[in-house]
Amino acid sequence: MTFEYAPAPESTSIVNISDEYGLFINGKFVAPKNGKTFTTINPATEAVLAKIAYAEAADVDKAVAAARVAYVKVWSKISPQERGKYLFRIARIMQERSREFAVLESLDNGKPIRESRDVDVPLAANHFFYHAGWADKLKFAGVGDNPKPLGVAGQIIPWNFPLLMLAWKVAPALAAGNTVVLKPAETTPLTALLFAQVCQQAGLPAGVVNIITGDGKTGSLLVNHPDINKIAFTGSTAVGKGIARAVAGSKKSVTLELGGKAANIVFEDAPIDETIEGIVNGIFFNQGHVCCAGSRLLVQENIHEEILEKLKHRMSQIRVGDPLDKNTDLGAINSASQLARIKSLSDAGDEEGAQRWSPECALPSKGFWFPPTIFTGVTQAHRIAREEIFGPVLSVITFRTPQEAIEKANNTPYGLSAGIWTDKGSRILWTAKHLKAGVIWANTFNKFDPASPFGGYKESGWGREGGRHGLSAYLKGGN
Ligand code: NAD
Repeated sequence: MTFEYAPAPESTSIVNISDEYGLFINGKFVAPKNGKTFTTINPATEAVLAKIAYAEAADVDKAVAAARVAYVKVWSKISPQERGKYLFRIARIMQERSREFAVLESLDNGKPIRESRDVDVPLAANHFFYHAGWADKLKFAGVGDNPKPLGVAGQIIPWNFPLLMLAWKVAPALAAGNTVVLKPAETTPLTALLFAQVCQQAGLPAGVVNIITGDGKTGSLLVNHPDINKIAFTGSTAVGKGIARAVAGSKKSVTLELGGKAANIVFEDAPIDETIEGIVNGIFFNQGHVCCAGSRLLVQENIHEEILEKLKHRMSQIRVGDPLDKNTDLGAINSASQLARIKSLSDAGDEEGAQRWSPECALPSKGFWFPPTIFTGVTQAHRIAREEIFGPVLSVITFRTPQEAIEKANNTPYGLSAGIWTDKGSRILWTAKHLKAGVIWANTFNKFDPASPFGGYKESGWGREGGRHGLSAYLKGGN
Protein backbone atom coordinates (compact mmCIF):
# COMPACT_ATOMS: atom_id res chain seq x y z
CA MET A 1 0.00 0.00 0.00
CA THR A 2 1.32 3.49 -0.75
CA PHE A 3 0.37 6.57 1.18
CA GLU A 4 -0.08 9.82 -0.68
CA TYR A 5 1.20 12.86 1.17
CA ALA A 6 -0.72 16.11 0.83
CA PRO A 7 1.59 19.09 0.28
CA ALA A 8 2.57 20.71 3.58
CA PRO A 9 4.46 23.85 2.59
CA GLU A 10 5.90 26.17 5.22
CA SER A 11 4.65 29.72 4.69
CA THR A 12 7.20 32.26 3.50
CA SER A 13 5.24 35.19 4.95
CA ILE A 14 7.61 35.33 7.94
CA VAL A 15 10.57 36.44 5.82
CA ASN A 16 10.92 39.89 4.44
CA ILE A 17 13.49 39.77 1.65
CA SER A 18 14.65 43.21 0.45
CA ASP A 19 15.12 43.79 -3.27
CA GLU A 20 18.72 44.80 -2.67
CA TYR A 21 21.29 44.37 0.13
CA GLY A 22 24.32 46.51 0.89
CA LEU A 23 27.51 45.50 2.70
CA PHE A 24 27.35 45.39 6.50
CA ILE A 25 30.25 47.57 7.59
CA ASN A 26 30.69 49.35 10.90
CA GLY A 27 27.17 48.50 12.07
CA LYS A 28 25.38 49.78 8.96
CA PHE A 29 24.34 48.53 5.55
CA VAL A 30 26.29 50.56 2.97
CA ALA A 31 26.46 50.56 -0.82
CA PRO A 32 29.64 49.12 -2.38
CA LYS A 33 32.01 51.82 -3.64
CA ASN A 34 31.74 50.85 -7.31
CA GLY A 35 28.00 50.06 -7.07
CA LYS A 36 28.45 46.51 -8.44
CA THR A 37 25.89 43.85 -7.57
CA PHE A 38 25.08 40.20 -8.27
CA THR A 39 21.91 38.19 -7.70
CA THR A 40 21.09 35.30 -5.43
CA ILE A 41 18.46 32.84 -6.61
CA ASN A 42 16.22 30.16 -5.17
CA PRO A 43 17.80 26.94 -6.49
CA ALA A 44 14.45 25.11 -6.31
CA THR A 45 12.75 27.52 -8.74
CA GLU A 46 15.58 29.63 -10.24
CA ALA A 47 13.60 32.75 -9.20
CA VAL A 48 15.75 35.74 -8.25
CA LEU A 49 15.55 36.44 -4.52
CA ALA A 50 17.59 39.63 -4.21
CA LYS A 51 20.38 41.82 -5.57
CA ILE A 52 23.51 41.62 -3.45
CA ALA A 53 26.37 44.11 -3.16
CA TYR A 54 29.66 42.97 -4.67
CA ALA A 55 32.62 44.00 -2.50
CA GLU A 56 35.87 45.04 -4.15
CA ALA A 57 39.21 46.24 -2.78
CA ALA A 58 38.00 49.59 -1.39
CA ASP A 59 35.09 47.88 0.39
CA VAL A 60 37.31 45.18 1.86
CA ASP A 61 39.67 47.92 3.12
CA LYS A 62 36.75 49.72 4.71
CA ALA A 63 35.45 46.59 6.43
CA VAL A 64 38.88 45.62 7.76
CA ALA A 65 39.47 49.19 8.99
CA ALA A 66 36.10 49.15 10.81
CA ALA A 67 36.97 45.82 12.41
CA ARG A 68 40.39 47.14 13.48
CA VAL A 69 38.96 50.28 15.11
CA ALA A 70 36.27 48.23 16.87
CA TYR A 71 38.95 45.81 18.09
CA VAL A 72 41.30 48.47 19.43
CA LYS A 73 38.74 50.87 20.87
CA VAL A 74 35.89 48.67 22.02
CA TRP A 75 35.97 44.89 21.85
CA SER A 76 39.40 44.32 23.36
CA LYS A 77 38.58 46.88 26.09
CA ILE A 78 35.22 45.72 27.41
CA SER A 79 35.07 43.11 30.12
CA PRO A 80 34.79 39.43 29.19
CA GLN A 81 31.45 39.32 31.01
CA GLU A 82 30.14 42.08 28.74
CA ARG A 83 31.30 40.20 25.66
CA GLY A 84 29.49 37.13 26.96
CA LYS A 85 26.30 39.14 27.42
CA TYR A 86 26.31 40.18 23.75
CA LEU A 87 26.82 36.59 22.66
CA PHE A 88 23.95 35.39 24.85
CA ARG A 89 21.79 38.14 23.42
CA ILE A 90 22.63 37.13 19.84
CA ALA A 91 21.87 33.48 20.64
CA ARG A 92 18.49 34.34 22.10
CA ILE A 93 17.51 36.58 19.19
CA MET A 94 18.49 33.79 16.80
CA GLN A 95 16.17 31.47 18.69
CA GLU A 96 13.38 34.02 18.69
CA ARG A 97 13.77 34.52 14.95
CA SER A 98 14.47 30.86 14.20
CA ARG A 99 11.52 30.36 11.83
CA GLU A 100 12.59 33.37 9.82
CA PHE A 101 16.14 32.04 9.60
CA ALA A 102 14.96 28.54 8.66
CA VAL A 103 12.66 29.67 5.86
CA LEU A 104 15.26 32.06 4.48
CA GLU A 105 17.96 29.37 4.57
CA SER A 106 15.76 26.90 2.69
CA LEU A 107 14.83 29.54 0.11
CA ASP A 108 18.42 30.59 -0.58
CA ASN A 109 20.13 27.21 -0.21
CA GLY A 110 17.51 24.65 -1.35
CA LYS A 111 17.80 22.47 1.77
CA PRO A 112 14.61 20.94 3.23
CA ILE A 113 12.86 23.06 5.84
CA ARG A 114 12.89 20.00 8.13
CA GLU A 115 16.68 20.28 8.24
CA SER A 116 17.08 24.07 8.35
CA ARG A 117 14.42 24.21 11.11
CA ASP A 118 15.62 21.22 13.18
CA VAL A 119 19.36 21.18 12.53
CA ASP A 120 20.99 24.29 11.03
CA VAL A 121 19.29 27.02 13.02
CA PRO A 122 19.17 25.35 16.48
CA LEU A 123 22.81 24.29 16.14
CA ALA A 124 23.83 27.81 15.08
CA ALA A 125 22.10 29.32 18.13
CA ASN A 126 23.71 26.63 20.34
CA HIS A 127 27.08 27.67 19.07
CA PHE A 128 26.51 31.20 20.32
CA PHE A 129 25.18 29.97 23.67
CA TYR A 130 28.16 27.67 24.12
CA HIS A 131 30.73 30.35 23.29
CA ALA A 132 28.93 32.98 25.36
CA GLY A 133 29.77 30.79 28.34
CA TRP A 134 33.45 30.74 27.36
CA ALA A 135 33.87 34.54 27.11
CA ASP A 136 34.82 35.00 30.78
CA LYS A 137 36.57 31.65 31.22
CA LEU A 138 39.30 31.96 28.60
CA LYS A 139 42.06 31.10 31.05
CA PHE A 140 40.73 27.54 30.93
CA ALA A 141 41.12 27.38 27.14
CA GLY A 142 44.52 25.78 27.51
CA VAL A 143 46.72 28.65 26.33
CA GLY A 144 47.89 30.06 29.66
CA ASP A 145 46.47 32.19 32.46
CA ASN A 146 46.05 35.41 30.55
CA PRO A 147 45.03 34.57 27.00
CA LYS A 148 44.85 37.35 24.46
CA PRO A 149 42.84 37.61 21.24
CA LEU A 150 44.56 37.66 17.86
CA GLY A 151 42.95 40.87 16.54
CA VAL A 152 40.95 41.02 13.32
CA ALA A 153 39.78 37.72 11.81
CA GLY A 154 38.92 37.34 8.12
CA GLN A 155 36.42 34.51 7.77
CA ILE A 156 35.27 32.84 4.55
CA ILE A 157 32.47 30.28 4.46
CA PRO A 158 30.81 27.93 1.92
CA TRP A 159 27.20 27.53 0.83
CA ASN A 160 26.25 24.16 2.27
CA PHE A 161 25.46 25.29 5.85
CA PRO A 162 25.47 29.08 5.49
CA LEU A 163 24.19 30.13 8.91
CA LEU A 164 25.79 27.25 10.79
CA MET A 165 29.23 27.90 9.27
CA LEU A 166 28.81 31.59 10.15
CA ALA A 167 28.12 30.58 13.76
CA TRP A 168 31.14 28.24 13.82
CA LYS A 169 33.29 31.18 12.74
CA VAL A 170 31.82 34.24 14.45
CA ALA A 171 30.95 32.84 17.91
CA PRO A 172 34.43 31.66 18.99
CA ALA A 173 36.13 34.68 17.42
CA LEU A 174 33.96 37.12 19.37
CA ALA A 175 34.08 35.11 22.60
CA ALA A 176 37.89 35.23 22.45
CA GLY A 177 37.83 39.01 21.94
CA ASN A 178 38.51 39.29 18.21
CA THR A 179 36.52 41.31 15.70
CA VAL A 180 35.58 39.86 12.33
CA VAL A 181 35.07 40.47 8.64
CA LEU A 182 33.05 37.56 7.27
CA LYS A 183 32.39 36.69 3.63
CA PRO A 184 29.50 34.29 2.98
CA ALA A 185 29.38 32.22 -0.22
CA GLU A 186 28.06 33.96 -3.31
CA THR A 187 25.06 31.63 -3.73
CA THR A 188 23.85 31.86 -0.11
CA PRO A 189 24.37 35.34 1.40
CA LEU A 190 20.88 35.94 2.79
CA THR A 191 21.04 34.40 6.26
CA ALA A 192 24.38 36.13 6.90
CA LEU A 193 22.71 39.42 6.03
CA LEU A 194 19.82 38.59 8.36
CA PHE A 195 22.44 37.82 11.00
CA ALA A 196 23.80 41.34 10.43
CA GLN A 197 20.35 42.63 11.41
CA VAL A 198 20.51 40.45 14.53
CA CYS A 199 23.82 42.12 15.45
CA GLN A 200 22.09 45.50 15.14
CA GLN A 201 19.15 44.27 17.19
CA ALA A 202 21.51 42.99 19.90
CA GLY A 203 23.17 46.41 20.06
CA LEU A 204 26.54 44.85 19.23
CA PRO A 205 29.09 47.69 19.02
CA ALA A 206 29.62 48.88 15.43
CA GLY A 207 32.49 47.20 13.57
CA VAL A 208 32.72 44.09 15.76
CA VAL A 209 31.03 42.04 13.03
CA ASN A 210 31.31 43.12 9.39
CA ILE A 211 29.80 41.13 6.54
CA ILE A 212 30.99 41.62 2.99
CA THR A 213 29.42 39.83 0.05
CA GLY A 214 31.09 38.78 -3.16
CA ASP A 215 32.81 35.81 -4.80
CA GLY A 216 36.24 34.21 -4.68
CA LYS A 217 37.93 37.47 -5.71
CA THR A 218 36.43 39.21 -2.68
CA GLY A 219 37.57 36.29 -0.53
CA SER A 220 41.06 36.53 -1.94
CA LEU A 221 41.22 40.26 -1.18
CA LEU A 222 40.35 39.46 2.42
CA VAL A 223 42.96 36.69 2.64
CA ASN A 224 45.67 38.99 1.29
CA HIS A 225 44.72 42.06 3.29
CA PRO A 226 47.76 43.19 5.33
CA ASP A 227 45.75 44.19 8.41
CA ILE A 228 44.18 40.77 9.01
CA ASN A 229 45.58 38.70 11.90
CA LYS A 230 43.81 35.43 11.25
CA ILE A 231 42.15 33.68 8.33
CA ALA A 232 39.50 31.06 9.03
CA PHE A 233 38.34 29.31 5.90
CA THR A 234 35.82 26.58 5.20
CA GLY A 235 35.51 25.41 1.62
CA SER A 236 37.16 23.31 -1.02
CA THR A 237 40.62 21.80 -0.69
CA ALA A 238 41.80 23.52 -3.89
CA VAL A 239 40.97 27.00 -2.55
CA GLY A 240 42.31 26.03 0.90
CA LYS A 241 45.68 25.14 -0.62
CA GLY A 242 45.79 28.52 -2.36
CA ILE A 243 45.05 30.26 0.93
CA ALA A 244 47.81 28.32 2.69
CA ARG A 245 50.22 29.50 0.00
CA ALA A 246 48.96 33.09 0.23
CA VAL A 247 49.48 33.37 4.00
CA ALA A 248 52.76 31.43 4.10
CA GLY A 249 55.53 33.69 5.40
CA SER A 250 53.05 36.25 6.79
CA LYS A 251 52.23 36.53 10.47
CA LYS A 252 48.61 35.52 9.87
CA SER A 253 47.22 32.55 11.78
CA VAL A 254 45.14 30.20 9.69
CA THR A 255 42.60 27.44 10.13
CA LEU A 256 41.28 25.48 7.15
CA GLU A 257 38.23 23.22 7.12
CA LEU A 258 38.23 21.52 3.73
CA GLY A 259 36.77 18.58 1.86
CA GLY A 260 36.22 14.93 2.70
CA LYS A 261 35.47 11.47 1.31
CA ALA A 262 34.41 9.64 4.45
CA ALA A 263 34.22 5.89 4.79
CA ASN A 264 31.08 4.62 6.48
CA ILE A 265 32.12 1.10 7.51
CA VAL A 266 29.50 -1.60 8.06
CA PHE A 267 30.67 -4.83 9.74
CA GLU A 268 28.76 -8.10 9.47
CA ASP A 269 27.45 -7.84 13.05
CA ALA A 270 25.97 -4.33 12.59
CA PRO A 271 22.34 -3.72 13.65
CA ILE A 272 20.99 -3.68 10.10
CA ASP A 273 17.91 -1.44 10.33
CA GLU A 274 19.71 1.25 12.34
CA THR A 275 22.63 1.00 9.95
CA ILE A 276 20.38 1.61 6.94
CA GLU A 277 19.09 4.78 8.61
CA GLY A 278 22.66 5.80 9.36
CA ILE A 279 23.75 5.24 5.74
CA VAL A 280 20.82 7.32 4.47
CA ASN A 281 21.51 10.08 6.96
CA GLY A 282 25.23 9.90 6.18
CA ILE A 283 24.90 10.57 2.45
CA PHE A 284 21.48 12.08 1.77
CA PHE A 285 21.34 14.63 4.61
CA ASN A 286 21.55 18.11 3.05
CA GLN A 287 21.58 16.59 -0.49
CA GLY A 288 25.02 15.18 0.33
CA HIS A 289 26.43 18.73 0.36
CA VAL A 290 28.27 17.81 3.55
CA CYS A 291 32.05 17.85 3.94
CA CYS A 292 31.86 14.93 6.40
CA ALA A 293 29.25 12.96 4.38
CA GLY A 294 29.58 9.18 4.49
CA SER A 295 30.10 9.08 0.73
CA ARG A 296 32.01 5.78 0.60
CA LEU A 297 30.02 2.87 2.00
CA LEU A 298 32.37 0.05 2.98
CA VAL A 299 30.31 -3.10 3.55
CA GLN A 300 31.56 -6.47 4.74
CA GLU A 301 31.10 -8.80 1.78
CA ASN A 302 28.83 -11.38 3.42
CA ILE A 303 26.10 -8.80 4.21
CA HIS A 304 26.49 -6.80 1.00
CA GLU A 305 23.37 -8.22 -0.70
CA GLU A 306 21.17 -7.74 2.34
CA ILE A 307 22.36 -4.17 2.91
CA LEU A 308 21.82 -3.26 -0.73
CA GLU A 309 18.32 -4.68 -0.82
CA LYS A 310 17.28 -2.83 2.33
CA LEU A 311 19.05 0.34 1.31
CA LYS A 312 17.27 0.41 -2.06
CA HIS A 313 13.95 -0.15 -0.36
CA ARG A 314 14.66 2.71 2.07
CA MET A 315 15.87 5.00 -0.71
CA SER A 316 12.58 4.45 -2.51
CA GLN A 317 10.86 6.17 0.42
CA ILE A 318 12.97 9.35 0.17
CA ARG A 319 10.81 12.29 -0.83
CA VAL A 320 12.54 14.65 -3.24
CA GLY A 321 11.06 18.06 -3.99
CA ASP A 322 9.97 21.44 -2.67
CA PRO A 323 12.44 22.38 0.11
CA LEU A 324 9.71 24.27 1.93
CA ASP A 325 7.44 21.22 2.14
CA LYS A 326 7.68 19.80 5.65
CA ASN A 327 7.62 16.24 4.27
CA THR A 328 10.58 16.73 1.94
CA ASP A 329 13.72 14.70 2.67
CA LEU A 330 15.92 15.77 -0.23
CA GLY A 331 15.77 19.33 -1.53
CA ALA A 332 17.37 21.16 -4.43
CA ILE A 333 21.03 21.09 -5.42
CA ASN A 334 22.45 24.48 -4.47
CA SER A 335 23.54 25.72 -7.90
CA ALA A 336 23.71 24.90 -11.59
CA SER A 337 27.49 24.55 -11.33
CA GLN A 338 27.28 22.09 -8.42
CA LEU A 339 24.66 20.07 -10.33
CA ALA A 340 27.00 19.97 -13.33
CA ARG A 341 29.80 18.67 -11.10
CA ILE A 342 27.60 15.93 -9.60
CA LYS A 343 26.46 14.90 -13.09
CA SER A 344 29.93 14.81 -14.53
CA LEU A 345 31.37 12.71 -11.67
CA SER A 346 28.39 10.35 -11.85
CA ASP A 347 28.93 10.00 -15.60
CA ALA A 348 32.55 9.14 -14.84
CA GLY A 349 31.20 6.38 -12.57
CA ASP A 350 29.23 4.93 -15.51
CA GLU A 351 32.16 5.25 -17.89
CA GLU A 352 34.58 3.56 -15.48
CA GLY A 353 32.25 0.57 -15.12
CA ALA A 354 30.36 1.04 -11.84
CA GLN A 355 26.60 0.34 -11.79
CA ARG A 356 24.29 3.25 -11.07
CA TRP A 357 20.93 2.89 -9.32
CA SER A 358 18.34 5.49 -8.28
CA PRO A 359 14.75 4.97 -7.17
CA GLU A 360 12.06 6.19 -9.51
CA CYS A 361 11.28 9.76 -8.57
CA ALA A 362 9.76 12.63 -10.47
CA LEU A 363 12.03 15.67 -10.34
CA PRO A 364 10.58 19.18 -10.68
CA SER A 365 11.08 20.73 -14.13
CA LYS A 366 12.52 24.04 -12.86
CA GLY A 367 15.49 24.34 -10.53
CA PHE A 368 18.48 22.08 -9.88
CA TRP A 369 17.77 18.47 -8.91
CA PHE A 370 19.53 15.15 -8.64
CA PRO A 371 17.93 11.90 -7.42
CA PRO A 372 19.36 9.88 -4.52
CA THR A 373 21.87 7.59 -6.22
CA ILE A 374 24.11 4.65 -5.39
CA PHE A 375 26.91 3.11 -7.38
CA THR A 376 27.84 -0.54 -6.84
CA GLY A 377 30.80 -2.39 -8.27
CA VAL A 378 33.01 0.54 -7.30
CA THR A 379 36.76 -0.01 -7.03
CA GLN A 380 39.33 2.04 -5.19
CA ALA A 381 40.63 3.45 -8.46
CA HIS A 382 37.31 4.88 -9.64
CA ARG A 383 36.97 8.65 -9.57
CA ILE A 384 33.69 8.28 -7.64
CA ALA A 385 35.66 6.49 -4.91
CA ARG A 386 38.38 9.13 -4.75
CA GLU A 387 36.89 12.55 -5.51
CA GLU A 388 34.45 14.49 -3.41
CA ILE A 389 31.13 14.56 -5.29
CA PHE A 390 29.37 16.76 -2.71
CA GLY A 391 25.96 15.48 -3.79
CA PRO A 392 23.47 12.67 -3.05
CA VAL A 393 25.68 9.96 -4.55
CA LEU A 394 26.98 6.97 -2.62
CA SER A 395 29.81 4.70 -3.75
CA VAL A 396 29.50 1.15 -2.38
CA ILE A 397 32.69 -0.85 -1.87
CA THR A 398 33.07 -4.25 -0.19
CA PHE A 399 35.69 -5.66 2.17
CA ARG A 400 36.35 -9.06 3.75
CA THR A 401 38.45 -8.42 6.87
CA PRO A 402 38.65 -5.53 9.35
CA GLN A 403 42.24 -4.93 8.18
CA GLU A 404 41.06 -4.56 4.59
CA ALA A 405 38.34 -2.13 5.75
CA ILE A 406 40.97 0.06 7.41
CA GLU A 407 43.24 0.00 4.36
CA LYS A 408 40.40 0.99 2.05
CA ALA A 409 39.02 3.61 4.43
CA ASN A 410 42.41 5.31 4.80
CA ASN A 411 43.20 5.10 1.09
CA THR A 412 42.18 8.70 0.38
CA PRO A 413 43.88 12.09 0.37
CA TYR A 414 41.20 13.24 2.83
CA GLY A 415 40.68 12.45 6.53
CA LEU A 416 37.73 14.38 7.88
CA SER A 417 35.27 11.83 9.23
CA ALA A 418 34.28 8.17 9.31
CA GLY A 419 31.48 5.93 10.57
CA ILE A 420 31.64 2.49 12.18
CA TRP A 421 28.67 0.12 12.44
CA THR A 422 29.12 -2.97 14.62
CA ASP A 423 27.67 -4.64 17.67
CA LYS A 424 31.06 -4.96 19.39
CA GLY A 425 32.53 -2.18 21.52
CA SER A 426 36.02 -3.63 21.15
CA ARG A 427 35.72 -3.51 17.36
CA ILE A 428 34.61 0.13 17.52
CA LEU A 429 37.70 1.01 19.54
CA TRP A 430 40.07 -1.02 17.37
CA THR A 431 38.68 0.46 14.16
CA ALA A 432 38.60 4.04 15.44
CA LYS A 433 42.22 3.70 16.57
CA HIS A 434 43.34 2.75 13.06
CA LEU A 435 41.29 5.24 11.07
CA LYS A 436 42.94 8.48 9.97
CA ALA A 437 39.93 10.74 10.39
CA GLY A 438 39.31 13.75 12.62
CA VAL A 439 35.76 12.80 13.61
CA ILE A 440 34.59 9.20 13.99
CA TRP A 441 31.00 8.23 14.71
CA ALA A 442 30.08 4.79 16.01
CA ASN A 443 26.60 3.41 15.31
CA THR A 444 25.45 6.90 14.37
CA PHE A 445 26.44 9.56 11.84
CA ASN A 446 26.42 13.34 11.36
CA LYS A 447 26.08 14.23 15.03
CA PHE A 448 27.32 17.72 15.90
CA ASP A 449 27.79 19.53 19.17
CA PRO A 450 29.41 22.92 19.80
CA ALA A 451 31.49 21.40 22.61
CA SER A 452 33.02 18.81 20.32
CA PRO A 453 36.01 19.74 18.15
CA PHE A 454 35.58 19.14 14.40
CA GLY A 455 38.28 19.05 11.74
CA GLY A 456 40.44 16.84 9.61
CA TYR A 457 43.70 15.14 8.78
CA LYS A 458 45.64 15.39 5.51
CA GLU A 459 43.87 17.37 2.77
CA SER A 460 40.77 17.84 4.93
CA GLY A 461 42.34 20.80 6.65
CA TRP A 462 44.30 22.34 9.48
CA GLY A 463 43.05 22.92 12.98
CA ARG A 464 39.75 22.29 14.71
CA GLU A 465 36.51 24.20 15.10
CA GLY A 466 34.24 23.86 18.11
CA GLY A 467 35.04 22.99 21.70
CA ARG A 468 38.08 24.21 23.58
CA HIS A 469 40.34 23.38 20.63
CA GLY A 470 38.37 25.56 18.23
CA LEU A 471 38.28 28.41 20.71
CA SER A 472 42.02 28.30 21.35
CA ALA A 473 42.61 28.85 17.62
CA TYR A 474 41.36 32.42 18.18
CA LEU A 475 43.78 33.09 21.06
CA LYS A 476 47.50 33.91 21.09
CA GLY A 477 49.48 30.78 21.81
CA GLY A 478 46.61 28.59 20.59
CA ASN A 479 46.81 26.18 17.71
P1 NAD B 1 34.83 27.02 -2.42
O1 NAD B 1 36.18 26.75 -1.89
O2 NAD B 1 34.68 27.21 -3.88
O3 NAD B 1 34.23 28.33 -1.75
C1 NAD B 1 34.16 28.51 -0.37
C2 NAD B 1 34.22 29.99 -0.07
O4 NAD B 1 35.49 30.49 -0.47
C3 NAD B 1 33.19 30.83 -0.80
O5 NAD B 1 32.77 31.88 0.06
C4 NAD B 1 33.98 31.40 -1.97
O6 NAD B 1 33.49 32.63 -2.45
C5 NAD B 1 35.35 31.60 -1.33
N1 NAD B 1 36.46 31.55 -2.27
C6 NAD B 1 36.52 30.97 -3.51
N2 NAD B 1 37.76 31.17 -4.06
C7 NAD B 1 38.48 31.87 -3.15
C8 NAD B 1 39.82 32.36 -3.11
N3 NAD B 1 40.66 32.15 -4.12
N4 NAD B 1 40.24 33.02 -2.02
C9 NAD B 1 39.41 33.21 -0.97
N5 NAD B 1 38.13 32.79 -0.94
C10 NAD B 1 37.67 32.12 -2.01
O7 NAD B 1 33.95 25.84 -1.86
P2 NAD B 1 32.41 25.60 -2.04
O8 NAD B 1 32.20 24.90 -3.34
O9 NAD B 1 31.64 26.83 -1.77
O10 NAD B 1 32.12 24.60 -0.81
C11 NAD B 1 32.21 23.26 -0.92
C12 NAD B 1 33.48 22.74 -0.28
O11 NAD B 1 33.55 23.13 1.09
C13 NAD B 1 33.52 21.24 -0.28
O12 NAD B 1 34.77 20.80 -0.73
C14 NAD B 1 33.33 20.88 1.18
O13 NAD B 1 33.86 19.67 1.57
C15 NAD B 1 33.92 22.02 1.88
N6 NAD B 1 33.37 22.16 3.23
C16 NAD B 1 34.15 21.80 4.29
C17 NAD B 1 33.65 21.88 5.59
C18 NAD B 1 34.51 21.51 6.76
O14 NAD B 1 34.19 21.90 7.87
N7 NAD B 1 35.58 20.79 6.55
C19 NAD B 1 32.36 22.34 5.80
C20 NAD B 1 31.58 22.70 4.70
C21 NAD B 1 32.11 22.61 3.41
